Amino acid sequence: MIRLTKETRTYTFAPENPPAITVDPGTTLIFETLDALDDQIHSDSDPASKVDLNHCNGITGPVFIKGAKPGDTLVAEILDIQPWDWGAALIIPGFGFLQDTIPGPYTKVVRIDKDGSMRLGEKVRLPARPMIGTIGVSPTKAIPTLNSGQHGGNLDTTDIRPGSKLFLPVLVEGALFGVGDVHATMGDGEVCGTGVECGAEVTIKLDLLKDHPIERPRIETSLEIMVVASAEGLNAAIKMALVDMVNWLQTDHGLSKEEAYVIVSSAGDVRIGQVVDPAVTVRVALPKGIFSGRR
Ligand code: CA
Repeated sequence: MIRLTKETRTYTFAPENPPAITVDPGTTLIFETLDALDDQIHSDSDPASKVDLNHCNGITGPVFIKGAKPGDTLVAEILDIQPWDWGAALIIPGFGFLQDTIPGPYTKVVRIDKDGSMRLGEKVRLPARPMIGTIGVSPTKAIPTLNSGQHGGNLDTTDIRPGSKLFLPVLVEGALFGVGDVHATMGDGEVCGTGVECGAEVTIKLDLLKDHPIERPRIETSLEIMVVASAEGLNAAIKMALVDMVNWLQTDHGLSKEEAYVIVSSAGDVRIGQVVDPAVTVRVALPKGIFSGRR
């Protein structure tokens, strides 16, 4: 299987970044990813203030997908995530939802067991919930990997995990896909600014939907479909995701906008991805089962 090493990493999603590899649609790759802290933290005594924020959140890639053009959709099927055997959770001064009251710095390095679970102190064991924080394609102009947007990026969305498909709008020729910033676990909101940040090996199948434009990222899990929106401010992000979902239901399911709006309100969930990055990320999820029309 094709393997991309962490040495290929970059710190921007950018059209000028040279491809690390060129592949056909339908190719499965293993991405070696470095933790979002760029391997700068190794023990509880490494202060979070040591982290150089200009040198973190690297993505492995980019991958040029043959035939990908603007107006297509790139499908990234997350097949597997194997975290390293350790990770770190931090409170970084000036970062996080409670930065005024719990400013840090604080560092907690945790060992990740073979089953993916991790012990936090003597009393708490966190279950394995590996997911991808940063994943996306190149926009038409360079964007740092700490940011999120139409191209994906630092989405920190817990449903980007094994078994999920992420759909991304192709914005430049070849798509230039990259991935990094794996979390061994993270809660919705990522309130202190990190999950358990770790390096990993991520297995992803990349495919194309030709002439299939979408506005921004979408996710399909075994049970749900979702739209993912990032904006400066929670209200703006929620509105963006709702409009997208209503449009999607109109286009693909022939519903009126009023029907779609009521269905989203009655059966859908608005969930928070993260509220700590430069743009916050939300998703609107809808169960797939409602479309069968049968009881
Ligand atoms: Ca992140």
